Amino acid sequence: MRLILLGPPGSGKGTQGHRLHEEYGIPEISTGDILRAAVRDGTPLGTQAKQYMDRGALVPDEVMIGIVRERLSQADAQAGFILDGFPRTVPQAEALNRMLSKRGQPIDHVISIEVPEDELVKRLSGRREIEGRQDDSDEAIQHRLEVYHKETSPLIDYYCQTGFLRSIPGVGAIDDIYQRITAKLS
Ligand code: AMP
Repeated sequence: MRLILLGPPGSGKGTQGHRLHEEYGIPEISTGDILRAAVRDGTPLGTQAKQYMDRGALVPDEVMIGIVRERLSQADAQAGFILDGFPRTVPQAEALNRMLSKRGQPIDHVISIEVPEDELVKRLSGRREIEGRQDDSDEAIQHRLEVYHKETSPLIDYYCQTGFLRSIPGVGAIDDIYQRITAKLS
């Protein structure tokens, strides 16, 4: 199964992606996690990405597309994957489409997790206390939400046209949200 989790920052893509990974045994590919690991390890990619991440901006498309192309070519991704945080722009979605078409491995499902804006802000500010992420400052949160509306939300229309998109409400208990997602995957 090849699945994309779409949703604004704080919508729970990581939490749900992790559960799906455990249940379906396919890798959860979180571009945010890949970048944070690069920042921690002090690699050239990490140094470059950090400037964007700290202020809640997007890392350039070419960089992200290169990372995902390389990750999807690894052995564990051949039987399927869950993408969390990619694509985030229309050019990223188009590049992904080309990559997967070439391999004859199209996307099976795109799940859009919908959460009201005030709930997102509450969750992201709460997470700051727990995880201490640099990009959970008030300014960065605001910027990430603006970037989501401008750059990422057009993907809802993009995938709607392909017929793969399923939307679910991302509020309530984590278990209930998970059930809503899996109900769309059959
Ligand atoms: P996330 O953990 O998915 O919220 O990602 C954290 C940060 O990593 C984002 O605010 C961006 O700066 C960067 N990032 C992650 N995925 C992407 C992507 N697909 N395109 C551009 N930037 C990304």
